[in-house]
Amino acid sequence: WKRGGRRRAVVVGGGTFLFLLSARGHAIFVENGMLQTPYLVSFSFVGVLFAMGYELGGDVLRAAQIARQLRESERRVDLAARAVALGFWTWDIARDEIWATDAARALFGFDTEDRIDLSRFLNVLHPGDRDEVKQALEAALSGSGEYEKDYRIQIPGLGTRWITARGRVESGANGQPVQMRGVVIDITAQRESEVELQQLRGQLAHAGRVSMMGQLASALAHELNQPLGAILRNAEAAEIHLQSASPDLDELRAIVADIHKDDQRAGQVIERLRSMLKRRDLESTPLAIDELLTESTKLARVDASVRRVLIDVVVAPGVPLVKGDHVHLQQVLLNLLLNAMDSMSGNPDGTRRIVLGASFDAGDEVHVSVSDSGHGIPPSRLQHIFEPFFTTKEHGMGMGLAISQTIIEAHGGKLWAENNTSGCGATFRFTLPVAKNESKS
Ligand code: ADP
Repeated sequence: WKRGGRRRAVVVGGGTFLFLLSARGHAIFVENGMLQTPYLVSFSFVGVLFAMGYELGGDVLRAAQIARQLRESERRVDLAARAVALGFWTWDIARDEIWATDAARALFGFDTEDRIDLSRFLNVLHPGDRDEVKQALEAALSGSGEYEKDYRIQIPGLGTRWITARGRVESGANGQPVQMRGVVIDITAQRESEVELQQLRGQLAHAGRVSMMGQLASALAHELNQPLGAILRNAEAAEIHLQSASPDLDELRAIVADIHKDDQRAGQVIERLRSMLKRRDLESTPLAIDELLTESTKLARVDASVRRVLIDVVVAPGVPLVKGDHVHLQQVLLNLLLNAMDSMSGNPDGTRRIVLGASFDAGDEVHVSVSDSGHGIPPSRLQHIFEPFFTTKEHGMGMGLAISQTIIEAHGGKLWAENNTSGCGATFRFTLPVAKNESKS
């Protein structure tokens, strides 16, 4: 009754009580001569036997059921343990004996019958991890009670494997550690993939740096090409002038001034590009778009005259100031102008014309366009021309449009290309943000 088995106490106690009652009642009747039978105590005792038998039978059935459940749960634990290569162990500290499941023994290279103690266990550890494991065990025994360690084991023929171990100290009545119980898991595959992942990350970072350096180098080469080419052509022109009997000094001064300007431009390009790649920021100031377009045509003047290309600037009235970086935007326009000239190289004389335009329809963007009358862009190529290193030119680098797009996007704008509806040539367009609180140009 006290242990909570009330039903059983009622059945067995009640059965015994009824037996005593019926035996006593029957004996009284026999004693008083009211019943002519012998004393039949054993007959009433059958009731007690029946009550006890009933309870015992119930116990046997319950025990069988529990054994079945236990076997089922063991099977599940075993399945889970196998799935994660998990082994169980218990270390009897006083007797220095380690019990371990077959899975744990197999992991450490022990046979099923081998007696395992602490020194035997430490012996299979990688020499470099032994002291750390010992310290972790001592720390658990002397205080924390928790043991957690990743270490390597080295077994001849099995190679090196990574193990993660977790354990807990169990203390006796006097508070002294009695045993330690825990699990071990083989984490070799996980460790190997971690190492592989780290190596891969390292390679990726390296590749990223290499390609970044490559891009920076080609970007610099590309952007410097124009001012250096202009300097060369101006120097050649000066040489021709100097060969004449009476050189035109004014013309020579203009040429030297041009060379000086182009040289400064080259320096600025390097500086801006470097700072942009480093900090990804721009020196944005309010700019008048018509000035920007006229300046860019001046920069392309030498090329335009050599290739006999006519450049027109058409800025719609009322276009507001834009917000942008002067040098970078000049670079974009120059790239687009030089590409436009390239596209018209096969045109007959007198048909090479570029129109630089700017317009504004209410909103917060100004539209800029560079339109040529060249060979146009085949539709299948349209989606590729902005990719770095995409070029159809024999000596092209394929960086001009990629860099231009980066610059325009860094300004918060968009750059795209389309073929002219007239069926001749292409137009490159980009947007630039209107400078806020600025009067119209
Ligand atoms: P690259 O000048 O080295 O060729 P770009 O990035 O400037 O590199 O241009 C990539 C490609 O886009 C060019 O090779 C060309 O095929 C195409 N392209 C650029 N501008 C024009 C244009 N105005 N008309 C036709 N095709 C063009």
